[in-house]
Amino acid sequence: MLVLGKDEKAKYPFLADAGRHLQEYGFELPQFGTDPALRVIVDKAYERVMAATGGSVYRSGLADGRAVQDRMLDVEILSFLIAIILIKLANRHTLVRRFALSEARRAESYLAGDLSDRRDRSRADMARRILHDLFGLKVGVRDSDSRYLIPVPDYLRHSSVFHEREWKLVNRQVEDGHVILRPDKTVRLIRHALTTYISAKIRNSPVPDMIPGLEEMVAELAAVADKLTPAYESTGENPPCIKHAINVLKSGENLPHSGRFMLATFLLARGRPIEEIAPLFKNAPDYSERVTMYQLNHLSGRTGGVKYNCPSCDKLRTQNLCFAVPECDGIITPLQFGRRRKTVEHEQQQPSDAEPAEGEPA
Ligand code: SF4
Repeated sequence: MLVLGKDEKAKYPFLADAGRHLQEYGFELPQFGTDPALRVIVDKAYERVMAATGGSVYRSGLADGRAVQDRMLDVEILSFLIAIILIKLANRHTLVRRFALSEARRAESYLAGDLSDRRDRSRADMARRILHDLFGLKVGVRDSDSRYLIPVPDYLRHSSVFHEREWKLVNRQVEDGHVILRPDKTVRLIRHALTTYISAKIRNSPVPDMIPGLEEMVAELAAVADKLTPAYESTGENPPCIKHAINVLKSGENLPHSGRFMLATFLLARGRPIEEIAPLFKNAPDYSERVTMYQLNHLSGRTGGVKYNCPSCDKLRTQNLCFAVPECDGIITPLQFGRRRKTVEHEQQQPSDAEPAEGEPA
């Protein structure tokens, strides 16, 4: 079990036991709505959530993961807990998602700093323990240059959520079954898992009663979240891979099984009824109405209970089914083709799980 000091709790407050923590401080939740001495914590909590809604990372009062004053650590820890209370009270999914990502990125910068610390090995050891105990990531050290060694299976498990080429195993330095990474890349590897961990922690925490004195703040956060909820409109145009598959079938040529799977799952996901999809396969050289209906029912989940998803663009590229055009840039599944975000009032930077450029702060 991880035993954390106050410094670590301030850097990684999601590891602290919220209820026990408040008890240790001797605070009751209603005090945060009325006690002027606690206002600084509530304001910090609000600032923390607002930073997340803007897609940025809350600037904490810690310098290099250390506080100038002990009180600063208390504010760091408690403001995280109160931020979660505000989010629970605002009851907006988008706040959970954005806050979890923002806090994961904040923790990531501390983890990277700790892993890079060559003078105080205890910091690096604690960071490695967090990565191991929370995410099952075994992190070894290459003594020659202090780079980190990740076993290939662990690397693959965590990097599977990335779409950028640089994360493909072939583009990585591998030695003796280990991927060699810099400290920042090592912690970048677990951003998704860390975000999921923080999200789960928020979702699993109980919804408190409204705290008198915080109603206005909670209503403001809910209003901001409502403006951020993405609204999409679609041109309705099929992507080139789908157009190509339809044309192949229309001309009576053979479309491979993977192409048929792509076409069927795409159209099902777009809400087209099976009865409308089946005739598309009529010209296939091996067409059988019975088999086609059986397969469509199976893919849709009507039989078997499992609904199959349309493959990703990455997967379709490997199957030679992709015929990308410039409009395909930035999409990861054919279902996103032609989808545009509606312009909303107070347009703000979207939270991004994307890789920051080298040298750019996380
Ligand atoms: S990038 Fe995706 S949507 Fe575009 S053609 Fe390729 S597979 Fe289809």
